[in-house]
Order: sequence, then structure tokens, then C-alpha cells
Amino acid sequence: MQNFRIGHGYDVHRLVENRKLILGGVAVPYERGLLGHSDADVLTHAVMDAVLGAAALGDIGRHFPDTDEAYRGADSIVLAAHVRDLLAARGYRVNNIDATVIAQRPKLAPYIDTMRDNLARVFGVDPDAVNVKATTEEKLGFTGSGDGIAAHAVATIIAD
Ligand code: MG
Repeated sequence: MQNFRIGHGYDVHRLVENRKLILGGVAVPYERGLLGHSDADVLTHAVMDAVLGAAALGDIGRHFPDTDEAYRGADSIVLAAHVRDLLAARGYRVNNIDATVIAQRPKLAPYIDTMRDNLARVFGVDPDAVNVKATTEEKLGFTGSGDGIAAHAVATIIAD
């Protein structure tokens, strides 16, 4: 039987003016964007943490500290490629990913397939192995008020 492991990731970033909104490597047109040291791609961050979690490799804060100038404005898809390589060095590869973005606005449906393609490409899996969902929290809490966007992800990995 294959060595099969599961990991979970969760992330939140604050929505502010004068920032791009990057989700799953897609620049989504919107009046505000996510604040962070890197490009603040909350979806890709949750996915990276799920993958790292599955391999018991800690979290992205450990691998890409926000005190490191090297990661200022970093493209999170490039950081995800590092995560893929860390995984490969341990003899694992991603099997599948399922993620949920929680945002009151904007509507993300038109961009979901491109997010899936970007995540699939960087983790070296078929787009059919990556699912991205978007939901609101019915105007409740910080996502509902538009103060921030959250993302959850789970990933399974298998030994190569
Ligand atoms: Mg983050």
C-alpha cells in the first residue's frame, strides 16, 4: 500500500486599498487587495501549508519568514515551487488538493479554473487533481464585512 498522508492549511489576509488581489496566482480585478509581506495570495498560502503539513514540514512561516527581505512582494506561486521541491526531496509528491476561499466579494467563479491550472502546474499534478471552491460567510464576521479573505485547504501526498 502506498504511503499516503493528508495535511490541512488555513490562512487569512486583510483587504486594503492600493494592493493587487492575487488568488491562486490570478490577479483578480477588484477595488482592494490583500495585505502581506509577499503577494499575500491567501489561497496559495493555505495550499502550501496543507502540503507542508502532510509532509510534517512545518509551515510557510518557517520556510519563508516575513522578516526576510527576500520574500517581500514574492510571487507565492514561486514559493509553492519551493514547497514542491521540499516535498520531492523527502520522496513525496502531491496527490490532490481541495481548497475553499471565503470572500464576500468579488465573485471568483470566472477565475477558479485558472487558479486550478496554476496550482496544478506548480505542484506537478493534473488540473483534475485540484479543486478550488469559493463561498461567502453570509456577511458574517471579517470575511462578511470585507475586512479580509480566508482560505482553507487540504492536500494528500503520496510517496514516490
Ligand atoms: Mg499568508
